[in-house]
Amino acid sequence: MFNVSFFNNEQRKAKQYKTLNGAYKAIYHYLLIKDTKQLRHVILYSPDSAAQNFTCAEQVPYQPPKKLNFYQTRAWLELRVEALSILPAKCCLCGATKESGAQLHVDHIKPRSTHPHLQLELNNLQILCQPCNIGKSNKFNEDWRD
Ligand SMILES: [Zn+2]
Repeated sequence: MFNVSFFNNEQRKAKQYKTLNGAYKAIYHYLLIKDTKQLRHVILYSPDSAAQNFTCAEQVPYQPPKKLNFYQTRAWLELRVEALSILPAKCCLCGATKESGAQLHVDHIKPRSTHPHLQLELNNLQILCQPCNIGKSNKFNEDWRD
């Protein structure tokens, strides 16, 4: 067992972890919170080594898993190709086409930020040119398809 003591100005809590990585992860997340009024401090007691002190997340030998970018996932890339092959190759809003020099984007009608369950729905996709897509941002949910 790995015993960890978490300190701030007001309290001390002790917790036990089964694995060293589990302990590092908890310490990392505890120290990630920056509070100027409270200095945080953690001591890790491992069964086989001397106690280790940590005062900031950067000292913890823990790498948080990198979040896979949605737009690089296979599921999205496949759906995007499907959308491009089915939907008319022009901007739903201003009618710009590749031939007129537009860069066409496959856009989520209902944004992923507010409707994550629709992020892989073909029915939630439309083609927009880059300026229209940027202008739309996440502020509108409008369906501009014909
Ligand atoms: Zn447009």
